[in-house]
Amino acid sequence: MLNFTVGPVMSDNEVLAIGGEQVPYFRTQEFSDIVLESEALMKEFVNAPEGSKTLFITGSGTASMEAVVMNVFSSYDRLLVIDGGSFGHRFTQLCNIHHIPYTSIKPERGKSVTAEMLAPYEGKGYTGLLVNLHETSTGVLYDAELLGKFCKRNNLIFVVDAISAFLADEVNMTKDHIDVVITGSQKVLACAPGISIIVLDPKALERIRESETKTMYFDLKDALKNAERGQTPFTPAVGVIRQIHHRLKKIKEAGGVESEIRNIKAQAEDFRTKIKGLPFEIVSEKMSNALTPLHPLTASAYDIFLELKDNYGIWVCPNGGDMKDTIFRVGHFGAQTTKDNDTLIKAFLSLQIKRII
Ligand SMILES: *Cc1c(COP(=O)(O)O)cnc(C)c1O
Repeated sequence: MLNFTVGPVMSDNEVLAIGGEQVPYFRTQEFSDIVLESEALMKEFVNAPEGSKTLFITGSGTASMEAVVMNVFSSYDRLLVIDGGSFGHRFTQLCNIHHIPYTSIKPERGKSVTAEMLAPYEGKGYTGLLVNLHETSTGVLYDAELLGKFCKRNNLIFVVDAISAFLADEVNMTKDHIDVVITGSQKVLACAPGISIIVLDPKALERIRESETKTMYFDLKDALKNAERGQTPFTPAVGVIRQIHHRLKKIKEAGGVESEIRNIKAQAEDFRTKIKGLPFEIVSEKMSNALTPLHPLTASAYDIFLELKDNYGIWVCPNGGDMKDTIFRVGHFGAQTTKDNDTLIKAFLSLQIKRII
């Protein structure tokens, strides 16, 4: 299987080997050390300010999105939510469920948020802003610097879902005034699904400490107390945490987060060069390095997905909803190489010969 989806993606052999090992008992100093070392590397890779904390939540990315909405905000807040695709929309659904007042900012699909779009909300008493830095459904990468400066000026808590941006694009808490970063194990970390990660700065930590407890499993006060000794309140996905620890250490040894981002960028640029001449249009104006969203000019996007999966053993990522037939996505992360891009391009050429595209 050649997997160009946006997660779960292909893991390297070392990560796979850890997945094949027995899962150890975890209330031990050895496991705590793994968690504490992973916490420190996570903070380093997102340039978290002094006094920040990292939590490992057992649950996919959405679990951490929900935990943040529930623990950092309350019905006394007024949030701005960038709703430019299905992941942005998920934040609005979470606010609805947890009765947190919000206003949606709705950029056109695949388009950035501009200063003009933020201007009407300047000085209007909002208390937080939620964004999916890379809106994975359309491929657009929002401008963290623009949003961060807006939040700083207006004293907003800035929450960045970097679930697919972390390690593919720069995520810099200190530079861009980010208070909360969320990511997940099955995206660019390229581990098994099951763990999501939250990095919280002192401002967000203060809010959590003062929050009313509304949930047991997602109570971040409890998680923070346990995290002090490298533990979690309940049994975590121990095997996945061991994979994440291994990946973070390897990234550090290979030159750190900048070097990982360069690799993903090179993989994306290689693909984007090689598809020139094929009947596809790139649909986003400012793209993440993580993936390329393509609009096929001569065929249904979903038919291309099925054809590649069923007849070539290659998985690209279909889109849901009203984008199902118009857009598919090609991810550039996980254990893939430029040779794999060649294999995919060859498959596209073969579809052209067969007049499928
Ligand atoms: C993948 C992803 C999520 C979380 O999805 P899960 O299926 O819950 O892991 C959230 N936001 C973005 C931007 C994503 O790419």
